[in-house]
Amino acid sequence: MKLYRTELDKGLSKKLFDIDTNQFLSDELNFYEDTIKVELSAEWSSNGYHVSGILKIPFEQTCDNCLTKFHDLRTTDFNFWLTDYDELLQDDSDDVLHFSQDDNEIDLNSLFQELIFLEKQMKSICREDCKGLCLNCGTNLNKGNCGCSIEVKDSPWEALKNLKGN
Ligand SMILES: [Zn+2]
Ligand SMILES: [Zn+2]
Repeated sequence: MKLYRTELDKGLSKKLFDIDTNQFLSDELNFYEDTIKVELSAEWSSNGYHVSGILKIPFEQTCDNCLTKFHDLRTTDFNFWLTDYDELLQDDSDDVLHFSQDDNEIDLNSLFQELIFLEKQMKSICREDCKGLCLNCGTNLNKGNCGCSIEVKDSPWEALKNLKGN
């Protein structure tokens, strides 16, 4: 996705962009929709342009607990400076991108790719009360009980319940 100086100069307020998910596809990254929605604001200041906004990423995930595939819409925010101002650039921060006086556009895809990867690293659970797989037989416990007793005994919640009962 490209941002143009002409847009930046005008200033952007929560402008919506669609970026194609295809370019980010990999063995590890899958999406259930064709686009990632970007909502972006930009304003000019004496040091450059301050850009902020959010990405809405439609991950097709595999649950860490029960290994089932599910749709996981994640929202992540970003915040950075586009600048030609030496003092900011020397800061060596990730949040500062070089945008020289001669540049008329900047491609944000590599920045967004990084954000998408970071978000992907986060734990993904299909639902809050996912019961996971039976440690004994591998049955998906969201779909029903397998009858193994080992799982029940090992559960810390079960121990807690017993404690309360006494
Ligand atoms: Zn799950
Ligand atoms: Zn089992």
